[in-house]
Amino acid sequence: MADVLDDAEITRVLSITAHPDDVDFGAAGTVARWTDAGIEVVYCVVTNGDAGGFDENFPRAEMAGLRQAEQIAAAKCVGVQDVRFLGYPDGRVEATLELRKDLARVIRQVRPDRVVCPSPERNYARTGASHPDHRAVGSAALDAIYPDARNPFAFPELREQEALAAWTVREVWIAGGPAPDHYVDVTDTFPRKVAALRAHESQTGHRDDMPEFLRTWLARTARLAGLPDGRLAEGFQVLSTA
Ligand SMILES: [Zn+2]
Repeated sequence: MADVLDDAEITRVLSITAHPDDVDFGAAGTVARWTDAGIEVVYCVVTNGDAGGFDENFPRAEMAGLRQAEQIAAAKCVGVQDVRFLGYPDGRVEATLELRKDLARVIRQVRPDRVVCPSPERNYARTGASHPDHRAVGSAALDAIYPDARNPFAFPELREQEALAAWTVREVWIAGGPAPDHYVDVTDTFPRKVAALRAHESQTGHRDDMPEFLRTWLARTARLAGLPDGRLAEGFQVLSTA
């Protein structure tokens, strides 16, 4: 099991994801517990999800705006008011220096104690979790945490032109990766996770089985965590980055 900071030591959490809806599939039940405990949570979404949706008749030019609105509505379901979009094109994200700098900027602005991000590693057991955008964002986010955000001489323009001081993130929670070692019981916040995912109407509106699909998945995760029958859990790999 992972060594994990006590939530009482955490003031702010930053979630970094590739697409609108990623945080809701991977971590919304945990996010709801944090906001209930008075922790401020900020979402940073690298793309607008403009390659998403299933309706071929829906005007593509409107998809990005729709998905931003859906993510903002989903965030409210779990107590998150601050949602930031970086506007990268959906489906074409690479772990570039530019993305590292953009993420280092957000980390220095938000000053989180803990960051939640996707895994840069492919999880052969979960194809969807290993979308190439997720892996690219996971790689860039870990590089932005160490060394970019904490090194005052990395991207010096952030300090010189934007007055953003270096910031050290203490802990990272990786979602969707191949080696989870920490589990959060989200049984009590499960209805809000479902509501958050329903808010992504363009992505989940065609799935009547959504609550049952989620319940089965999170129950399996709870069994891995050794929780009693009937409990639901989300899993993460926790890294100390202090
Ligand atoms: Zn995604």
